[in-house]
Amino acid sequence: MTGLKVALLGATGSIGTQTLDVLRQAMPWAKVTALTGNNNIKLLAKLAQEFRPGYICVPDEARQNELAGLIDFPCEILTGATGLEKCAAQTDASVVVNALVGRVGLAPTLAAINAGKHVAIANKETLVTAGAIVMPFAKKMGVCITPIDSEHSAILQCLQGNPLPAVEKIVLTASGGPFRKWDKDKIAAARQVQALKHPNWGMGPKITIDSATLMNKGLELIEAMWLYSMPVDKIEVVIHPQSIIHSMVQFTDGAMMAQMGPVDMRLPIQYALTAPDRIINDFPRLDLLACGELTFEPVDMDKFPCLALAVYAAKAGGTLPAVMNYINEWAVSQFLEEKISFYGISDIIARAFGAYTVKPAACAQDIWEAEAWADEFIKVLPKSQKT
Ligand code: NAD
Ligand code: MG
Repeated sequence: MTGLKVALLGATGSIGTQTLDVLRQAMPWAKVTALTGNNNIKLLAKLAQEFRPGYICVPDEARQNELAGLIDFPCEILTGATGLEKCAAQTDASVVVNALVGRVGLAPTLAAINAGKHVAIANKETLVTAGAIVMPFAKKMGVCITPIDSEHSAILQCLQGNPLPAVEKIVLTASGGPFRKWDKDKIAAARQVQALKHPNWGMGPKITIDSATLMNKGLELIEAMWLYSMPVDKIEVVIHPQSIIHSMVQFTDGAMMAQMGPVDMRLPIQYALTAPDRIINDFPRLDLLACGELTFEPVDMDKFPCLALAVYAAKAGGTLPAVMNYINEWAVSQFLEEKISFYGISDIIARAFGAYTVKPAACAQDIWEAEAWADEFIKVLPKSQKT
C-alpha cells in the first residue's frame, strides 16, 4: 500500500477533493500521477501545486493556457476526452480514482482497464450505462473495480469473509432526499434551490438532484447488480432518513449485516484504496449515543417515479439503462437551469422508454449508439413536452 500511486479523474469535485483529503490525512506516502478538472482551473492549479502530478487534463486549449500560467513545476497538460483517457491509462498509476460525474466517465474507465489499472469508482454512470461491458472486461484483464459509493462500499465491507452465493438479498438504504415528507403536489412545484438542499450529504449538483428524485437510488441499484452479480429482485431499497446504516446484506441463514458510519465519504473513499485492508485515520467516529433513533420506511414509488423507471430499465437491461442515464443527465441539467419541472425529469424519461426499442449491450459502440438515439430523441421532442 505504501507504493500507492493515484490517477484522480474529477479532482476538483466533491469526491475528488475528498479523495485528496484522504491522501493528505491518512496516506501521506501516496503519489498522485494525474489530476483532471473541468471549469474550476484555479482550484485544479492549487491542487496540482500541492500534489505535483506528471499529467493534468483540462477541457480545452484556453484552459490549458490558463492552467500553465498558474503552476510552476514541469508536467504535461493534456486536453479533452483523449487527455482524460491518457491520464487513466498512460501514467504509472497503480489505481485510477474515477470521480467524474456523468457518462463522460465511461471511456476513461475502459482505458484504465485496458491498461491493467485497478479502478476505484465513484462515477456510477459508468456501470449504469455499460456494466455488461465493463465488468467482463475487468475480469478478462484481471483488474478490480472497487466501489466508492457509500452503499456499495458498505456491501463490500459486509461481504468480507462471506461468499456471494450465501447472499439472499442486498438492502440499499436511501435518505429519501429533501422531499421525503412533502406531498406530491408540493413536490411537483419544487424549485431547483429546494432540491439542492440534501438533508444529510454535501455533494455535487447532479447527484444531489438525483437524490431528490431517487434516481440516484435507481442508478445505485443497477450499479449493485453489476458489482455483485445480483439480479434486480434480490436488491431492495429502504428509506433510512438518518443515513447512518450505509447498506445491508442479508444471508441465506437469515443473518443481516449492516455497515454503519458517520455521514462522511472519506471512509468509503479510503476503503476503496485499501480494501480488504484497513488503515488508521482520524476522521470523525460514529457516536451511538448522539445519533438517536434509526428508522426505516418503504419507498413511495408514486411520489418518486424515477426509482420505478430505473427498476424497469434494470429489468429490461441491454441499452435501456444507457438511454435512461443520458435522458436523466440532460433532464437534470434542464431542471437545474429551471427549464423543466421536477416531474418533467421522470416524464421525459418515461416518454423515451415508450419510444425506444431496447438492443443488446455487447460493446461500447452499442452504448454510444443508444446515447446518440437519446440525443436525437431530446432534439426532436416537442417543446410542449419539455416541461
Ligand atoms: P462533482 O460535480 O462535485 O464533481 C465532478 C468532477 O468531474 C469535477 O472535478 C468536474 O470538474 C469533473 N467534470 C464534470 N464534467 C466533466 C466533463 N465533461 N469532462 C471532464 N471532467 C468533468 O460531482 P461529485 O458529487 O463529486 O460526483 C462524482 C461522481 O461520484 C458522480 O457519478 C456521483 O454520482 C458519484 N458519487 C458522489 C458522491 C458524493 O458524495 N459527492 C457519493 C457517491 C457517489
Ligand atoms: Mg450513494
